[in-house]
Amino acid sequence: MINASLKELAQALAAKKISSVELSTLFLDRIERLNPVFNAFVTVDREKSLKMAREADARIAAGTAGPLTGIPIAQKDIFCAEGWTTTCGSKMLANFVSPYDATVIRKMHGEAGMVSLGKTNMDEFAMGSSNETSYFGAVRNPWDRERVPGGSSGGSAAAIASRMAPAATGTDTGGSIRQPAALCNLTGLKPTYGLVSRYGMIAFASSLDQGGPMAASAEDCALLLNTMVGFDERDSTSLERPAEDYARELGEKSGDKPLAGLRIGLPKEFFGAGCDAGVMAAVQAAIAEYEKLGATCVEVSLPNSYLSVPAYYVIAPAEASSNLSRFDGVRYGFRAEEYANLDDMYAKSRAQGFGAEVKRRILIGTYVLSHGYYDAYYLQAQRIRRLIANDFVEAFKRCDVILGPTSPSTAFKLGEKAADPVQMYLSDIYTIAVNLAGLPGMSLPCGFAGGLPVGLQLIGNYFAEGALLNVAHRYQQATDWHRRRPHGIE
Ligand code: GLN
Repeated sequence: MINASLKELAQALAAKKISSVELSTLFLDRIERLNPVFNAFVTVDREKSLKMAREADARIAAGTAGPLTGIPIAQKDIFCAEGWTTTCGSKMLANFVSPYDATVIRKMHGEAGMVSLGKTNMDEFAMGSSNETSYFGAVRNPWDRERVPGGSSGGSAAAIASRMAPAATGTDTGGSIRQPAALCNLTGLKPTYGLVSRYGMIAFASSLDQGGPMAASAEDCALLLNTMVGFDERDSTSLERPAEDYARELGEKSGDKPLAGLRIGLPKEFFGAGCDAGVMAAVQAAIAEYEKLGATCVEVSLPNSYLSVPAYYVIAPAEASSNLSRFDGVRYGFRAEEYANLDDMYAKSRAQGFGAEVKRRILIGTYVLSHGYYDAYYLQAQRIRRLIANDFVEAFKRCDVILGPTSPSTAFKLGEKAADPVQMYLSDIYTIAVNLAGLPGMSLPCGFAGGLPVGLQLIGNYFAEGALLNVAHRYQQATDWHRRRPHGIE
Protein backbone atom coordinates (compact mmCIF):
# COMPACT_ATOMS: atom_id res chain seq x y z
CA MET A 1 0.00 0.00 0.00
CA ILE A 2 2.84 2.36 0.84
CA ASN A 3 4.22 2.12 -2.71
CA ALA A 4 0.90 1.87 -4.52
CA SER A 5 -0.25 4.34 -7.18
CA LEU A 6 -3.28 6.54 -6.58
CA LYS A 7 -5.26 4.36 -9.00
CA GLU A 8 -4.36 1.24 -7.02
CA LEU A 9 -5.24 2.96 -3.75
CA ALA A 10 -8.58 4.05 -5.17
CA GLN A 11 -9.31 0.49 -6.31
CA ALA A 12 -8.38 -0.93 -2.90
CA LEU A 13 -10.65 1.59 -1.16
CA ALA A 14 -13.54 0.98 -3.56
CA ALA A 15 -13.21 -2.80 -3.18
CA LYS A 16 -13.14 -2.28 0.62
CA LYS A 17 -9.80 -4.10 0.86
CA ILE A 18 -8.71 -1.30 3.15
CA SER A 19 -10.50 1.63 4.80
CA SER A 20 -9.36 5.22 4.57
CA VAL A 21 -8.74 5.19 8.33
CA GLU A 22 -6.43 2.16 7.94
CA LEU A 23 -4.67 3.64 4.94
CA SER A 24 -4.22 7.04 6.57
CA THR A 25 -2.93 5.38 9.73
CA LEU A 26 -0.28 3.53 7.70
CA PHE A 27 1.04 6.84 6.36
CA LEU A 28 0.66 8.71 9.68
CA ASP A 29 2.69 6.00 11.44
CA ARG A 30 5.37 6.31 8.78
CA ILE A 31 5.44 10.09 9.22
CA GLU A 32 5.87 9.63 12.98
CA ARG A 33 8.84 7.34 12.37
CA LEU A 34 10.53 9.01 9.39
CA ASN A 35 9.78 12.71 9.70
CA PRO A 36 12.44 13.26 12.40
CA VAL A 37 14.99 12.13 9.77
CA PHE A 38 13.76 14.17 6.77
CA ASN A 39 11.89 17.14 8.32
CA ALA A 40 9.41 17.06 5.44
CA PHE A 41 6.33 17.96 7.48
CA VAL A 42 6.02 21.05 9.69
CA THR A 43 2.53 20.23 10.95
CA VAL A 44 0.92 16.85 11.53
CA ASP A 45 -2.38 16.43 13.36
CA ARG A 46 -3.40 12.79 13.61
CA GLU A 47 -6.84 13.53 15.06
CA LYS A 48 -7.75 15.96 12.28
CA SER A 49 -6.49 13.55 9.62
CA LEU A 50 -8.37 10.59 11.06
CA LYS A 51 -11.56 12.61 11.29
CA MET A 52 -11.27 13.32 7.56
CA ALA A 53 -10.59 9.63 6.95
CA ARG A 54 -13.72 8.61 8.89
CA GLU A 55 -15.76 11.05 6.81
CA ALA A 56 -14.29 9.54 3.66
CA ASP A 57 -15.13 6.03 4.83
CA ALA A 58 -18.71 7.15 5.43
CA ARG A 59 -18.89 8.48 1.86
CA ILE A 60 -17.46 5.24 0.49
CA ALA A 61 -20.00 3.24 2.51
CA ALA A 62 -22.84 5.48 1.31
CA GLY A 63 -21.78 5.12 -2.33
CA THR A 64 -21.18 8.86 -2.73
CA ALA A 65 -17.39 8.65 -3.07
CA GLY A 66 -15.48 10.34 -5.90
CA PRO A 67 -12.40 8.84 -7.59
CA LEU A 68 -9.95 10.01 -4.91
CA THR A 69 -12.15 9.91 -1.79
CA GLY A 70 -10.22 8.54 1.18
CA ILE A 71 -6.77 8.86 -0.40
CA PRO A 72 -4.22 10.65 1.80
CA ILE A 73 -2.23 13.61 0.52
CA ALA A 74 0.32 16.05 1.96
CA GLN A 75 -0.32 19.78 1.52
CA LYS A 76 2.41 22.33 0.97
CA ASP A 77 2.26 24.76 3.88
CA ILE A 78 1.57 27.67 1.52
CA PHE A 79 -2.10 26.63 1.24
CA CYS A 80 -4.39 28.02 3.93
CA ALA A 81 -6.37 25.23 5.56
CA GLU A 82 -9.08 26.01 8.09
CA GLY A 83 -8.02 25.19 11.63
CA TRP A 84 -4.50 24.18 10.54
CA THR A 85 -1.39 26.18 11.29
CA THR A 86 -0.32 27.68 7.96
CA THR A 87 3.25 28.97 8.20
CA CYS A 88 4.56 29.38 4.63
CA GLY A 89 7.91 28.32 6.10
CA SER A 90 8.22 31.61 7.98
CA LYS A 91 8.62 32.77 11.56
CA MET A 92 6.21 35.52 10.51
CA LEU A 93 3.38 32.98 10.33
CA ALA A 94 4.71 30.34 12.74
CA ASN A 95 1.59 30.65 14.92
CA PHE A 96 -0.95 31.57 12.26
CA VAL A 97 -3.99 29.29 12.26
CA SER A 98 -5.97 29.84 9.07
CA PRO A 99 -9.65 30.74 9.51
CA TYR A 100 -10.52 29.51 6.00
CA ASP A 101 -9.65 27.00 3.28
CA ALA A 102 -7.76 27.82 0.09
CA THR A 103 -9.78 26.80 -2.97
CA VAL A 104 -7.34 23.95 -3.68
CA ILE A 105 -7.81 22.68 -0.12
CA ARG A 106 -11.59 22.98 -0.34
CA LYS A 107 -11.64 21.10 -3.64
CA MET A 108 -9.30 18.31 -2.56
CA HIS A 109 -10.68 17.75 0.93
CA GLY A 110 -14.17 19.22 1.04
CA GLU A 111 -15.26 18.15 -2.43
CA ALA A 112 -13.03 15.23 -3.49
CA GLY A 113 -12.85 13.78 0.02
CA MET A 114 -9.07 13.32 0.14
CA VAL A 115 -7.42 13.09 3.57
CA SER A 116 -4.80 15.64 4.61
CA LEU A 117 -1.74 14.03 6.21
CA GLY A 118 -0.38 17.43 7.25
CA LYS A 119 1.47 20.50 5.99
CA THR A 120 4.84 20.22 4.33
CA ASN A 121 8.02 22.20 4.86
CA MET A 122 9.06 24.74 2.22
CA ASP A 123 11.43 27.60 1.57
CA GLU A 124 10.27 30.72 3.38
CA PHE A 125 7.44 32.28 1.34
CA ALA A 126 8.46 29.87 -1.46
CA MET A 127 11.70 31.75 -2.10
CA GLY A 128 14.45 29.27 -2.76
CA SER A 129 15.59 26.19 -4.65
CA SER A 130 16.85 24.04 -1.78
CA ASN A 131 14.35 24.29 1.08
CA GLU A 132 17.17 25.71 3.23
CA THR A 133 15.49 29.10 3.75
CA SER A 134 12.69 27.56 5.83
CA TYR A 135 12.36 28.90 9.39
CA PHE A 136 11.71 25.27 10.36
CA GLY A 137 15.04 24.01 9.10
CA ALA A 138 16.27 22.25 5.99
CA VAL A 139 14.66 19.14 4.53
CA ARG A 140 16.84 16.15 3.67
CA ASN A 141 16.70 14.41 0.31
CA PRO A 142 15.64 10.74 0.74
CA TRP A 143 18.12 9.76 -2.00
CA ASP A 144 21.04 11.20 -0.03
CA ARG A 145 20.47 12.73 3.37
CA GLU A 146 23.42 15.09 3.01
CA ARG A 147 21.77 16.69 -0.01
CA VAL A 148 18.90 19.11 -0.57
CA PRO A 149 15.52 17.92 -1.90
CA GLY A 150 15.22 21.04 -4.06
CA GLY A 151 12.81 23.84 -3.38
CA SER A 152 10.63 25.54 -2.65
CA SER A 153 8.29 22.51 -2.47
CA GLY A 154 11.08 20.45 -0.86
CA GLY A 155 8.96 19.07 1.98
CA SER A 156 6.33 17.79 -0.44
CA ALA A 157 9.02 16.16 -2.58
CA ALA A 158 10.81 14.48 0.35
CA ALA A 159 7.47 13.30 1.79
CA ILE A 160 6.58 11.46 -1.43
CA ALA A 161 10.09 10.15 -2.15
CA SER A 162 10.25 8.59 1.34
CA ARG A 163 6.65 7.41 0.92
CA MET A 164 5.40 9.33 3.94
CA ALA A 165 2.67 10.38 1.51
CA PRO A 166 1.51 8.94 -1.83
CA ALA A 167 1.13 12.43 -3.33
CA ALA A 168 1.36 16.11 -2.46
CA THR A 169 0.63 19.59 -3.66
CA GLY A 170 3.29 22.09 -4.62
CA THR A 171 3.44 25.58 -6.03
CA ASP A 172 5.67 26.79 -8.81
CA THR A 173 6.64 30.44 -9.30
CA GLY A 174 9.94 29.78 -11.06
CA GLY A 175 10.39 26.03 -10.80
CA SER A 176 9.32 25.02 -7.31
CA ILE A 177 7.28 21.99 -8.38
CA ARG A 178 9.52 20.80 -11.22
CA GLN A 179 12.97 21.24 -9.64
CA PRO A 180 12.25 19.34 -6.39
CA ALA A 181 10.41 16.68 -8.44
CA ALA A 182 13.58 16.32 -10.53
CA LEU A 183 15.90 16.11 -7.51
CA CYS A 184 13.72 13.52 -5.74
CA ASN A 185 12.74 11.27 -8.70
CA LEU A 186 9.10 12.37 -8.88
CA THR A 187 6.63 13.58 -11.45
CA GLY A 188 5.35 17.13 -10.99
CA LEU A 189 3.20 19.43 -13.07
CA LYS A 190 3.02 23.21 -13.13
CA PRO A 191 -0.25 24.02 -14.93
CA THR A 192 -1.03 26.87 -17.32
CA TYR A 193 -1.27 30.12 -15.36
CA GLY A 194 -4.88 30.65 -14.27
CA LEU A 195 -5.97 27.00 -14.36
CA VAL A 196 -5.64 26.36 -10.62
CA SER A 197 -7.07 28.96 -8.24
CA ARG A 198 -4.62 31.01 -6.20
CA TYR A 199 -7.26 31.89 -3.60
CA GLY A 200 -5.85 31.06 -0.18
CA MET A 201 -2.43 30.21 -1.61
CA ILE A 202 -0.11 32.63 0.16
CA ALA A 203 1.10 35.04 -2.51
CA PHE A 204 4.75 35.32 -3.51
CA ALA A 205 4.70 36.68 -7.11
CA SER A 206 1.07 36.70 -8.15
CA SER A 207 1.60 36.84 -11.93
CA LEU A 208 3.79 33.72 -11.77
CA ASP A 209 2.49 31.59 -8.86
CA GLN A 210 0.63 28.44 -9.77
CA GLY A 211 -0.29 25.40 -7.69
CA GLY A 212 -0.01 21.89 -9.06
CA PRO A 213 0.35 18.18 -8.27
CA MET A 214 3.43 16.16 -7.30
CA ALA A 215 3.37 12.35 -7.27
CA ALA A 216 5.18 9.27 -8.51
CA SER A 217 3.73 9.22 -12.02
CA ALA A 218 1.99 11.26 -14.71
CA GLU A 219 -1.11 9.14 -14.21
CA ASP A 220 -1.25 10.12 -10.52
CA CYS A 221 -0.69 13.78 -11.44
CA ALA A 222 -3.58 13.65 -13.94
CA LEU A 223 -5.96 12.34 -11.28
CA LEU A 224 -4.84 15.04 -8.85
CA LEU A 225 -5.09 17.80 -11.45
CA ASN A 226 -8.70 16.77 -12.09
CA THR A 227 -9.51 17.69 -8.50
CA MET A 228 -7.53 20.97 -8.45
CA VAL A 229 -8.63 22.91 -11.53
CA GLY A 230 -11.68 25.05 -12.12
CA PHE A 231 -12.86 28.63 -12.37
CA ASP A 232 -12.90 30.50 -9.09
CA GLU A 233 -14.58 33.87 -8.80
CA ARG A 234 -12.37 34.61 -5.78
CA ASP A 235 -9.24 34.65 -7.96
CA SER A 236 -9.28 37.48 -10.48
CA THR A 237 -6.88 35.65 -12.83
CA SER A 238 -8.74 32.35 -12.67
CA LEU A 239 -9.79 31.13 -16.11
CA GLU A 240 -13.17 29.89 -17.17
CA ARG A 241 -12.67 26.75 -19.25
CA PRO A 242 -14.78 23.76 -20.20
CA ALA A 243 -14.13 20.89 -17.79
CA GLU A 244 -11.61 18.34 -18.99
CA ASP A 245 -10.65 14.86 -17.79
CA TYR A 246 -6.85 14.91 -17.73
CA ALA A 247 -6.65 11.15 -17.25
CA ARG A 248 -8.78 10.38 -20.32
CA GLU A 249 -6.07 10.31 -23.01
CA LEU A 250 -3.88 8.24 -20.71
CA GLY A 251 -6.43 5.45 -20.66
CA GLU A 252 -6.54 5.09 -24.43
CA LYS A 253 -4.96 2.01 -25.97
CA SER A 254 -1.62 2.51 -27.65
CA GLY A 255 0.50 0.34 -29.91
CA ASP A 256 4.29 0.15 -29.91
CA LYS A 257 4.54 3.59 -31.56
CA PRO A 258 2.06 5.47 -29.36
CA LEU A 259 3.66 8.82 -30.06
CA ALA A 260 3.83 8.56 -33.87
CA GLY A 261 3.33 12.03 -35.34
CA LEU A 262 4.43 13.85 -32.18
CA ARG A 263 6.98 16.59 -32.86
CA ILE A 264 9.33 17.22 -29.96
CA GLY A 265 11.14 20.56 -29.97
CA LEU A 266 14.67 20.61 -28.55
CA PRO A 267 15.66 24.21 -27.76
CA LYS A 268 19.31 24.59 -28.65
CA GLU A 269 19.73 26.95 -25.67
CA PHE A 270 18.90 24.04 -23.31
CA PHE A 271 21.52 21.76 -24.82
CA GLY A 272 24.58 23.99 -24.67
CA ALA A 273 27.12 24.54 -21.91
CA GLY A 274 26.02 24.87 -18.30
CA CYS A 275 24.36 21.50 -17.80
CA ASP A 276 26.16 18.68 -15.97
CA ALA A 277 27.31 15.89 -18.29
CA GLY A 278 25.49 13.18 -16.29
CA VAL A 279 22.22 15.08 -16.50
CA MET A 280 22.67 15.64 -20.24
CA ALA A 281 23.42 11.94 -20.84
CA ALA A 282 20.16 10.92 -19.14
CA VAL A 283 18.19 13.52 -21.11
CA GLN A 284 19.76 12.30 -24.39
CA ALA A 285 18.78 8.73 -23.53
CA ALA A 286 15.21 9.92 -22.93
CA ILE A 287 15.21 11.55 -26.37
CA ALA A 288 16.25 8.22 -27.92
CA GLU A 289 13.43 6.51 -26.01
CA TYR A 290 10.94 9.04 -27.33
CA GLU A 291 12.12 8.38 -30.87
CA LYS A 292 11.52 4.67 -30.29
CA LEU A 293 7.98 5.55 -29.25
CA GLY A 294 7.47 7.21 -32.63
CA ALA A 295 8.17 10.87 -31.91
CA THR A 296 10.36 12.98 -34.18
CA CYS A 297 12.68 15.65 -32.85
CA VAL A 298 13.22 19.10 -34.31
CA GLU A 299 15.62 21.77 -33.17
CA VAL A 300 13.91 24.95 -31.97
CA SER A 301 15.27 28.13 -30.48
CA LEU A 302 14.32 30.23 -27.46
CA PRO A 303 16.75 33.08 -28.18
CA ASN A 304 15.70 35.23 -25.20
CA SER A 305 15.65 32.46 -22.62
CA TYR A 306 19.12 33.47 -21.37
CA LEU A 307 17.38 36.58 -20.00
CA SER A 308 14.79 34.65 -18.02
CA VAL A 309 16.71 34.50 -14.71
CA PRO A 310 17.56 38.25 -14.66
CA ALA A 311 14.02 39.24 -15.74
CA TYR A 312 12.52 36.93 -13.12
CA TYR A 313 14.72 38.38 -10.36
CA VAL A 314 13.28 41.81 -11.10
CA ILE A 315 9.62 40.85 -11.58
CA ALA A 316 9.27 38.26 -8.80
CA PRO A 317 10.87 40.44 -6.07
CA ALA A 318 8.82 43.45 -7.26
CA GLU A 319 5.60 41.52 -6.77
CA ALA A 320 6.86 39.96 -3.54
CA SER A 321 7.72 43.34 -2.04
CA SER A 322 4.12 44.39 -2.60
CA ASN A 323 2.54 41.09 -1.50
CA LEU A 324 4.61 40.86 1.66
CA SER A 325 3.77 44.39 2.82
CA ARG A 326 0.69 42.91 4.51
CA PHE A 327 2.92 41.26 7.10
CA ASP A 328 3.29 44.28 9.35
CA GLY A 329 2.86 42.93 12.84
CA VAL A 330 -0.70 44.24 12.98
CA ARG A 331 -2.85 41.99 10.83
CA TYR A 332 -1.12 38.65 10.66
CA GLY A 333 1.25 36.55 12.64
CA PHE A 334 4.38 37.69 14.36
CA ARG A 335 4.76 40.95 16.30
CA ALA A 336 8.00 41.99 18.00
CA GLU A 337 7.73 41.96 21.79
CA GLU A 338 9.51 45.22 22.50
CA TYR A 339 9.22 48.42 20.50
CA ALA A 340 9.22 52.16 21.09
CA ASN A 341 6.34 53.32 18.87
CA LEU A 342 4.21 52.24 15.90
CA ASP A 343 6.90 52.73 13.25
CA ASP A 344 9.37 50.87 15.41
CA MET A 345 6.85 48.05 15.84
CA TYR A 346 6.52 47.64 12.06
CA ALA A 347 10.28 47.74 11.60
CA LYS A 348 11.12 45.32 14.41
CA SER A 349 8.32 42.87 13.55
CA ARG A 350 9.48 42.65 9.95
CA ALA A 351 13.18 42.59 10.88
CA GLN A 352 12.63 39.73 13.31
CA GLY A 353 9.84 37.90 11.44
CA PHE A 354 11.45 37.55 8.00
CA GLY A 355 14.56 35.58 7.12
CA ALA A 356 17.52 36.82 5.05
CA GLU A 357 16.36 35.64 1.61
CA VAL A 358 12.91 37.20 2.04
CA LYS A 359 14.48 40.49 3.12
CA ARG A 360 16.81 40.41 0.12
CA ARG A 361 13.82 40.02 -2.21
CA ILE A 362 11.84 42.81 -0.50
CA LEU A 363 14.83 45.13 -0.83
CA ILE A 364 15.37 44.31 -4.51
CA GLY A 365 11.67 44.57 -5.24
CA THR A 366 11.25 47.90 -3.52
CA TYR A 367 14.30 49.22 -5.33
CA VAL A 368 13.21 48.20 -8.84
CA LEU A 369 9.76 49.71 -8.31
CA SER A 370 11.03 52.98 -6.92
CA HIS A 371 10.84 56.29 -8.75
CA GLY A 372 13.74 56.60 -11.16
CA TYR A 373 14.38 52.84 -11.37
CA TYR A 374 10.96 51.61 -12.41
CA ASP A 375 11.56 52.30 -16.11
CA ALA A 376 15.12 51.06 -16.07
CA TYR A 377 14.41 47.75 -14.34
CA TYR A 378 10.79 46.80 -13.85
CA LEU A 379 9.47 48.00 -17.21
CA GLN A 380 12.49 46.58 -19.01
CA ALA A 381 11.97 43.20 -17.35
CA GLN A 382 8.32 43.21 -18.40
CA ARG A 383 9.37 43.83 -22.00
CA ILE A 384 11.83 40.94 -21.83
CA ARG A 385 9.06 38.81 -20.40
CA ARG A 386 7.01 39.45 -23.53
CA LEU A 387 9.97 38.51 -25.76
CA ILE A 388 10.42 35.27 -23.84
CA ALA A 389 6.72 34.43 -24.24
CA ASN A 390 6.93 35.20 -27.98
CA ASP A 391 9.86 32.80 -28.33
CA PHE A 392 7.57 30.00 -27.20
CA VAL A 393 4.83 31.07 -29.61
CA GLU A 394 7.36 30.76 -32.45
CA ALA A 395 8.72 27.45 -31.19
CA PHE A 396 5.26 25.89 -30.92
CA LYS A 397 4.69 26.58 -34.61
CA ARG A 398 7.27 23.87 -35.25
CA CYS A 399 6.63 21.36 -32.47
CA ASP A 400 3.97 20.00 -30.11
CA VAL A 401 6.01 19.77 -26.91
CA ILE A 402 9.38 21.13 -25.88
CA LEU A 403 11.85 18.85 -24.09
CA GLY A 404 14.99 19.51 -22.08
CA PRO A 405 16.54 19.06 -18.65
CA THR A 406 14.61 20.32 -15.61
CA SER A 407 17.64 21.24 -13.56
CA PRO A 408 21.26 21.74 -14.65
CA SER A 409 22.49 19.45 -11.86
CA THR A 410 21.33 16.64 -9.61
CA ALA A 411 20.68 17.29 -5.90
CA PHE A 412 23.48 19.39 -4.42
CA LYS A 413 24.92 19.19 -0.92
CA LEU A 414 23.19 20.95 1.97
CA GLY A 415 24.96 24.29 2.42
CA GLU A 416 26.72 24.09 -0.96
CA LYS A 417 24.93 27.08 -2.50
CA ALA A 418 23.42 28.67 0.60
CA ALA A 419 26.01 31.45 0.77
CA ASP A 420 25.81 32.35 -2.93
CA PRO A 421 22.35 33.56 -3.99
CA VAL A 422 23.24 33.82 -7.68
CA GLN A 423 24.40 30.17 -7.82
CA MET A 424 21.14 29.22 -6.10
CA TYR A 425 19.08 31.28 -8.56
CA LEU A 426 20.74 29.51 -11.49
CA SER A 427 19.21 26.19 -10.34
CA ASP A 428 16.06 27.38 -12.12
CA ILE A 429 17.71 28.33 -15.39
CA TYR A 430 15.56 25.87 -17.40
CA THR A 431 12.29 26.31 -15.52
CA ILE A 432 11.75 30.05 -15.08
CA ALA A 433 10.94 30.95 -18.70
CA VAL A 434 7.86 28.70 -18.47
CA ASN A 435 6.46 30.78 -15.59
CA LEU A 436 7.23 34.06 -17.32
CA ALA A 437 5.26 32.81 -20.34
CA GLY A 438 2.46 31.26 -18.22
CA LEU A 439 2.84 27.87 -19.93
CA PRO A 440 2.38 24.39 -18.46
CA GLY A 441 5.54 22.44 -17.69
CA MET A 442 6.36 19.20 -16.01
CA SER A 443 9.27 17.17 -14.73
CA LEU A 444 9.50 13.40 -14.79
CA PRO A 445 12.22 10.93 -13.81
CA CYS A 446 14.54 9.96 -16.68
CA GLY A 447 17.51 8.23 -15.10
CA PHE A 448 20.37 8.72 -12.66
CA ALA A 449 23.72 10.46 -12.57
CA GLY A 450 26.14 9.49 -9.83
CA GLY A 451 23.32 7.60 -8.11
CA LEU A 452 21.08 10.67 -7.97
CA PRO A 453 17.82 11.20 -9.89
CA VAL A 454 17.68 13.25 -13.09
CA GLY A 455 14.53 15.09 -14.16
CA LEU A 456 13.28 15.49 -17.73
CA GLN A 457 11.31 18.63 -18.44
CA LEU A 458 8.39 18.74 -20.87
CA ILE A 459 6.81 22.07 -21.77
CA GLY A 460 3.43 22.31 -23.46
CA ASN A 461 1.42 24.98 -25.18
CA TYR A 462 -1.28 26.84 -23.23
CA PHE A 463 -3.89 24.42 -21.81
CA ALA A 464 -2.09 21.40 -23.26
CA GLU A 465 -1.91 19.68 -19.85
CA GLY A 466 -3.78 16.64 -21.20
CA ALA A 467 -1.34 16.17 -24.07
CA LEU A 468 1.66 16.84 -21.83
CA LEU A 469 0.54 14.23 -19.30
CA ASN A 470 -0.01 11.76 -22.12
CA VAL A 471 3.49 12.34 -23.51
CA ALA A 472 4.88 11.73 -20.01
CA HIS A 473 2.66 8.71 -19.42
CA ARG A 474 3.71 6.91 -22.62
CA TYR A 475 7.35 7.30 -21.58
CA GLN A 476 6.50 5.95 -18.12
CA GLN A 477 4.81 2.93 -19.69
CA ALA A 478 8.05 2.17 -21.54
CA THR A 479 10.51 2.92 -18.70
CA ASP A 480 10.66 2.28 -14.99
CA TRP A 481 12.70 5.24 -13.70
CA HIS A 482 9.65 6.61 -11.90
CA ARG A 483 9.25 3.34 -10.01
CA ARG A 484 12.74 3.47 -8.46
CA ARG A 485 12.77 4.16 -4.73
CA PRO A 486 15.65 5.30 -2.53
CA HIS A 487 17.46 2.55 -0.62
CA GLY A 488 17.59 2.26 3.11
CA ILE A 489 14.17 3.64 3.99
CA GLU A 490 11.98 0.87 5.43
N1 GLN B 1 13.75 29.19 -6.92
C1 GLN B 1 12.93 30.27 -7.39
C2 GLN B 1 12.92 31.40 -6.39
O1 GLN B 1 13.63 31.29 -5.46
C3 GLN B 1 11.53 29.77 -7.66
C4 GLN B 1 10.75 29.53 -6.44
C5 GLN B 1 9.36 29.08 -6.71
O2 GLN B 1 9.05 28.59 -7.78
N2 GLN B 1 8.50 29.30 -5.73
O3 GLN B 1 12.22 32.34 -6.50
